[in-house]
This record gives sequence, structure tokens and C-alpha cells, in this order.
Amino acid sequence: TIGMVALDKDGHVAAGTSTNGLTHKVPGRVGDSPIVGAGAYADSSAGGAAATGDGDLMMRFLPSYLAVELMRAGADPSAACKTAISRIKRHYSEFFGAIICANTSGHYGAACNKAPGLSQFHYMVSDSEPHNAIEISCFPF
Ligand code: ASP
Repeated sequence: TIGMVALDKDGHVAAGTSTNGLTHKVPGRVGDSPIVGAGAYADSSAGGAAATGDGDLMMRFLPSYLAVELMRAGADPSAACKTAISRIKRHYSEFFGAIICANTSGHYGAACNKAPGLSQFHYMVSDSEPHNAIEISCFPF
């Protein structure tokens, strides 16, 4: 899944995902990516978030919605992501997944779970300048 959160100069927040789903998925499977609040969520009064991973499991916890609501309540983006992942971890300690988020002031964060095949999670951050993109590594906690 490719997940993205965008903040424009007027303070509008948008989030979205694009995915090929899971390998060997059942025909007709929808997954988490197009489900608002699961794959992505945005609210210009709080921030945006996007998630990737085991969608069948993650969609039951609406991690993107949770992260945005935590930021609305004052959590910084890293803490919001960590809490969203922890909420799932509590029930599925081995699940595969990660989340990114950004608040309305442009602060951002991410969190991922320790899972087979995921030693770290990489994401990109950019501003409006074309050459300002940086890659950030996020380590499981
Ligand atoms: N979340 C996607 C799905 O379950 C897969 C992915 O993130 O790679 O369809």
C-alpha cells in the first residue's frame, strides 16, 4: 500500500491510499485501504493518517481514525501513531502493520509493529520544494 497525508498552504488536510491488496487474496476482497478511518482518514481541524499492513486485521481497529482523533485531543503525531499500533498489538502482538500521520501544523510521525518481514518501516516527508524529500526510518517499539 502507498499511503499519503497532505497538508496545503491553506490548512486543508487530505489522506489517501493506493494498494494492490494482499498476495493470494480472495477475489472481491476489499481490505482496509479504501475504508475511511482504517486505510486513511483526514480532518482539516486535526490532521491526517494512513496505514499499511494486514488489512483484514487492522480494519477492525480503525487505526487512521484513532490517530487523527488522538492528535485532535492533543497527542503529538508520533505518540498518536504509537497508540494506534499499540491498540492492535494488545490483541495481535505479531500483526504486520505501520501508520503515518501529520497534524495541521505540519508535524508528523509514524509507528510500526515488530513483525516477520518488517525490521523497520521507511516513509518519506516533503514540503513544496521538489528536492526537499527526506526518507525516515521508523523502528518497531
Ligand atoms: N493493507 C493492505 C491490504 O490489506 C495491504 C498493504 O498494506 O500492503 O489490502
